[in-house]
Amino acid sequence: IDKINQKVAAGQHFFSFEFFPPKTEEGVDALWERMERMVAHGPIFCDITWGAGGSTANATLDLAGKMQNMVNIETMMHLTCTNMPAESLDTALTKLRESGLENILALRGDPPKGHDRFVTVEGGFSCALDLVKYIRKTHGDYFGICVAGYPEAHPETLTDDQAANEKAYTDSLSYLKAKVDAGGQLIITQLFYDCDRFLKFVKDCRAVDIQCPILPGIMPIMTYGGFKRMTGFCKVKVPQEINDTVEANKDNEEAIKAYGVDLGAKMCKYLLANGTPGLHMYSLNMEKSALAILERVGFIDNSKVPRPMPWGFVPMHSCG
Ligand code: FAD
Repeated sequence: IDKINQKVAAGQHFFSFEFFPPKTEEGVDALWERMERMVAHGPIFCDITWGAGGSTANATLDLAGKMQNMVNIETMMHLTCTNMPAESLDTALTKLRESGLENILALRGDPPKGHDRFVTVEGGFSCALDLVKYIRKTHGDYFGICVAGYPEAHPETLTDDQAANEKAYTDSLSYLKAKVDAGGQLIITQLFYDCDRFLKFVKDCRAVDIQCPILPGIMPIMTYGGFKRMTGFCKVKVPQEINDTVEANKDNEEAIKAYGVDLGAKMCKYLLANGTPGLHMYSLNMEKSALAILERVGFIDNSKVPRPMPWGFVPMHSCG
């Protein structure tokens, strides 16, 4: 089985790691080393993000190919519509196929720089649904396609009006169903800190006949600033107790990290105990918190030195 959605559907108690393309060559080298150690723990797949507005298109394509072929991990590449006319999408999809990749996370993307609303580029697409349709139209069943899900509705549809938010949530389920019907085979969610919201979301998805696997996006709290930025940007509800603990430890970096691991492990155990098949870790290219959480959950043993990579790993850009 090569398609990630098939592996996930057949799996139980697995985990996966998301990475993003670093900005510098030193960053890329550091990422390979980290990825080597993380992949040695046996994730079911790894994915690599597509920088905002397509800013990392070449880097993402390059990294995705090397993850698949050199790190030897089943890789899913994110792809967004932002600033991507159909020809650019065609080029990216062809390159992916040439690199032997079979998995895509199809997204709309955030508004291009300088805009607060999404702008459709000429000759491009305005939503993930149309991108999914396009990939299916141009490449048939070649790619396994994953789509994004939002347990609290998409942030741009949320306001201060509770009734309107309820409607936005219901609408977002129909829209998600359309993405799945058009060819989406796996759902990964936006980060959340209220596990019951995620479990309700899964139940609501099943109720509207969305049957594909749904993976929770787990973002360990690593820094005060990062946590505030991400929860604010994504308009994620933070339970009072979590907020109070983070605020109380705001000036203590170590305490925040330790709390992030405690909380992450508690959340993951609760999700798994309530029927969630596996965990998708937003690693933010860092290994310690994600691995510590997985160890607490009982998925990995950090005391065992990760097995060395069989192919004699060399940082990529020093290969010439
Ligand atoms: P869509 O599913 O298209 O939805 C966007 C909004 O438009 C929703 O509110 C939806 O309800 C509404 N909408 C659009 N079309 C319709 C329609 N036809 N009918 C009804 N409603 C419609 N961003 C990046 O730039 N790079 C990444 O690598 C990246 N990775 C991500 C990974 C995950 C798991 C998640 C959850 C998000 C990621 N994002 C990434 C962020 C994502 O691009 C943004 O959240 C973006 O604003 C929406 O993308 P989407 O694919 O969810 O859009």
